[in-house]
Amino acid sequence: MQFENTFDFAQKADQQDPINALRNHFHIPSENGKPVIYFCGNSLGLQPKNTSGLVEAEMQKWRELAVKGHFCGQGQWYDFHKSLKPFYQDIIGATPEEVAIMNNLTVNLHLMMATFYRPTSQRYKILLEAGAFPSDYYALETQAQQHGLDPAEVLVPLSPRPGEHILHTEDILSAIHQHQDSLALVMLGGINYYTGQWFDMPAITQAAQSKGIVVGFDLAHAAGNVLLQLHDWGIDFAVWCTYKYLNSGPGGVGGAFVHQKHAQNTQLHRLAGWWGYDETTRFQMQPGFKAIANADGWQLANHAILSLTCHKAALEIFGKTSMAALRAKSTQLTAYAAAIIAQINEQQGAGLTIITPSNASERGAQLSIDTGKQGKRLFEILSEAGVVADWREPNVIRIAPTPLYNTFEEVYQFGQILTNALQPQPATT
Ligand SMILES: *Cc1c(COP(=O)(O)O)cnc(C)c1O
Repeated sequence: MQFENTFDFAQKADQQDPINALRNHFHIPSENGKPVIYFCGNSLGLQPKNTSGLVEAEMQKWRELAVKGHFCGQGQWYDFHKSLKPFYQDIIGATPEEVAIMNNLTVNLHLMMATFYRPTSQRYKILLEAGAFPSDYYALETQAQQHGLDPAEVLVPLSPRPGEHILHTEDILSAIHQHQDSLALVMLGGINYYTGQWFDMPAITQAAQSKGIVVGFDLAHAAGNVLLQLHDWGIDFAVWCTYKYLNSGPGGVGGAFVHQKHAQNTQLHRLAGWWGYDETTRFQMQPGFKAIANADGWQLANHAILSLTCHKAALEIFGKTSMAALRAKSTQLTAYAAAIIAQINEQQGAGLTIITPSNASERGAQLSIDTGKQGKRLFEILSEAGVVADWREPNVIRIAPTPLYNTFEEVYQFGQILTNALQPQPATT
């Protein structure tokens, strides 16, 4: 597609967008009587219009059926979570047996580490991004301590080359090679939250597993954003949250993927609770844990139904389209935003740098813009003009045009606002 920074072009692109109508399924927040340009779906996705109705239906069930709601008819709370798993075939490329919908991302990371990080005196290191999300860092550090190890000796952080922002695949692979006898685990983000870089997940997985190293991914920024084939790629485990691209509400329920080759193994060490117990005998309430022979065997507790309901409302919208269609629009929408930013930056000599890879196969929806000399002031001007983006210290604005509800026209309008924001500002006296 040849992009033009014009209203006409943007309008035509929206008219030709086969999934343009999906925007109508979401509440778009307004400020000063005008809908905002919401580019923050990578942080908190918008609320689907069907969410509150479905939540109210569960509230009604609780009011009217109370405890009987656990085992009452279709949508009974007892196995509500099972109705959500099939959506993940398309979203992450997993069979229902490989998916558990539970807890929150960081909790699930600890649970997965309890199973998949089993350090020995020879193999105990963990390869991670130097720029990993802090919660992931804290989880990995304390997992090392849990085993009586010193995090400084366990964690092998991968840094970009000097003066660069993103990691080269060859550098990741050579780090794996360099530590091949001492690495127990490679634990990376699918997409880095700060730079928006999408790693070559199959190549990394293949390289690590060929050396006997376990591979896990944090999909917080990848699930619902890019095309994933976790089963086919043979990834050992993954975790994600559902409130970013998956629009399931603040602090919404998380997910875990356990590859079939492990999920069926009820003998794997884990931290257990009664909801992971073999369902046929769970209510005999006997001591001695017996795991369910699929990813549900990692469940601890009975489910937060209101949270699952929000998740279901969002997944139903994903069910109206496909990840392939979303991704096709997303690559265009983000490329359009990148082209407009580059053009404005050049025309106005603004000194902005998009640090996210320019190649579509190395990024999702998000663009991270190093604001250079503009600094946080640029972010503040954009915010006042109705752009919802976010600021990440020390100097980055993240925007994520999201294919489910953002439009080409919004990207064009964003460019207009950016152009104005980069004009010399009137002096404040
Ligand atoms: C958003 C995000 C989290 C958040 O973790 P929660 O347990 O859901 O609070 C963790 N890791 C990454 C990489 C994230 O982007």
